[in-house]
Amino acid sequence: MSDDIFSKIAQGKIEVPLVDSNEYAVAFADINPQAPVHLLVIPKKKFLNVTELAADSTYMQAVMSLAVSAASKAGLTNGYRLVFNTGQDGGQTVPYVHCHVLGGRSLTWPPG
Ligand code: AMP
Repeated sequence: MSDDIFSKIAQGKIEVPLVDSNEYAVAFADINPQAPVHLLVIPKKKFLNVTELAADSTYMQAVMSLAVSAASKAGLTNGYRLVFNTGQDGGQTVPYVHCHVLGGRSLTWPPG
């Protein structure tokens, strides 16, 4: 999957149903869900990974607050998990930062 797809989704050039959005970020369903609820939250401006995102307090705050809001809208009242896979060891496959919102079942720990 190309990071260009995330750029196009963020810019509204590819229309996907948005679960939630705010001024700086959008939330939509992951195409290959790993849990009954699996959303992705991405900033409207491109950052390669969470290390870059964390240096911009406006976008970082927007992504985190949207992840919490989207989890609530998805009905995850019994808990959920937020994940930023980062770099090769972190298992990041798309070089456009995205926060996974996972829930709807009891999630195991540790992850693989
Ligand atoms: P990661 O491995 O953390 O980089 O996660 C990339 C995620 O993006 C995976 O869970 C993919 O299923 C998801 N993904 C890739 N392309 C799309 C797409 N066009 N729409 C929604 N989710 C996507």
